[in-house]
Amino acid sequence: MSDDCLFCAIAAGSIPAEKVLENDRLIAFRDIAPKAPTHVLVVPRLHVENVAELAAADASLLAEMAAAAQQIADKECGGEFRWIFNTGATAGQSVFHVHGHVLGGGELGWEPA
Ligand code: 5GP
Ligand code: ZN
Repeated sequence: MSDDCLFCAIAAGSIPAEKVLENDRLIAFRDIAPKAPTHVLVVPRLHVENVAELAAADASLLAEMAAAAQQIADKECGGEFRWIFNTGATAGQSVFHVHGHVLGGGELGWEPA
C-alpha cells in the first residue's frame, strides 16, 4: 500500500470501482473511461510502478494477472483481447501502480502512435 495511490485506494475499497474479479492478490475493475466495449484494468494489490518491476518482484503474480485477463475475456469477449501495460508517461501511463488494460469486445483498431 502506498499513500496517495489511486489503485491502492481502489484495492483497499476506500475509492469505489466496478469490480469484475477480486482475490487476495489482485483485483480487476472497469476503466472509468472505456476505450472498447470491454475495458477492464487488472491490478495486483502489491504496489509496484510497472510491469518490469512486477516481474522482478513476483513473476508468479504477473502470471496470475495473465490468467485473470484471460478469464475476463472468456466471460466478456469470446476469449480474445488486447493486454496493454503503458510504461512511462510518454507511453501513456498516468497511474504509477502497475495495471494491465484488458481491451476487447469489438474489432480493435491499431494506431498506437
Ligand atoms: P494508464 O493511463 O496509467 O495506462 O491507465 C490508467 C487508467 O485508469 C486510464 O485508462 C483511466 O481511464 C483509468 N482511471 C483513472 N482514474 C480512474 C478511476 O478513478 N476509476 C477507474 N475505474 N479508472 C480510472
Ligand atoms: Zn498503489
